Amino acid sequence: MSTRAEQHTATLLRRERLSDHLLRLVLGGLHDFASTGVPDEWVGLVVPGQFQSRYYTVRSFDPAAGELVLDVVVHDVGLVTEWAQLDGIEGQQVVVTDPKGSFALPDDAGWLMLVGDLTAMPAMARILERCELPATVWAEVPERLPSYLPERGEVHWLAQPGDGQSALAEVVGDLSWPEGPGYFWMAGESSQMRAIRKHLMREVRLPSTHYDVMGYWRGGQGRQPRAVDPGPIWRAGKAAGKSDEQIWADYDAAREEQA
Ligand SMILES: Cc1cc2nc3c(=O)[nH]c(=O)nc-3n(C[C@H](O)[C@H](O)[C@H](O)COP(=O)(O)OP(=O)(O)OC[C@H]3O[C@@H](n4cnc5c(N)ncnc54)[C@H](O)[C@@H]3O)c2cc1C
Repeated sequence: MSTRAEQHTATLLRRERLSDHLLRLVLGGLHDFASTGVPDEWVGLVVPGQFQSRYYTVRSFDPAAGELVLDVVVHDVGLVTEWAQLDGIEGQQVVVTDPKGSFALPDDAGWLMLVGDLTAMPAMARILERCELPATVWAEVPERLPSYLPERGEVHWLAQPGDGQSALAEVVGDLSWPEGPGYFWMAGESSQMRAIRKHLMREVRLPSTHYDVMGYWRGGQGRQPRAVDPGPIWRAGKAAGKSDEQIWADYDAAREEQA
């Protein structure tokens, strides 16, 4: 059995600027793609000229049209960040992997708490659309996006501290927890997440089935030093019957294109 995610080729149909930092990509041609139905499901996205994936939440998928919507946060540098803002990329092909999801609402949950930064907004919007429990949201964002979320629940907009910092760990530390069992979902910069999980487990004493805390991105590491992954070139070369020398020449060429 293969452990590799199934991949699908899609075409960038159109883009829409949702805010200064959020860009909507609509990908078409995905007639062989199937949603898992899990509200925070994500796909791996490989953009042209790249071999590394970046992960994006399925904001929506229309199976009849074969169209997938991803909402991409654009930050200072980055593989997807830079490609997504280039002129005239409509019509280009990208690769997306089969989706996977992590949100798992326990049967006894009576409330929902969602905490995240801008990268978590697509998932938080989709969770609110699909889950009817009373919900409270804490969103740490560079600009408020009230119309982005469905009109339900209590939403706290938190200003993002400067320098890529986040105060979400303190927010979670100060939360007043509703009575009875519920479900806590959170996503944001990775370095805070371990401490937050520890807090939920030790101080709040949430059972591990009642929270889901994910590091969506890593700060402070600069642009990826190895932007071209040799794995896919190697596998494709082998499948095409190429010699090792040819495969490494292909790899060098890909890195030169990248530089
Ligand atoms: C399951 C999952 C779901 C996700 N869903 C979404 C989504 O729906 N929308 C979305 O935009 N992102 C989402 N992300 C986060 C996204 O995958 C990362 O932000 C990714 O690193 C962006 O890729 P890039 O190529 O633009 O930048 P990279 O090349 O990965 O990084 C370049 C530089 O930018 C910095 N950086 C990366 N992300 C951010 C950021 N968000 N803010 C500030 N600096 C950053 C890095 O530290 C690095 O220095 C998700 C991640 C996961 C794991």
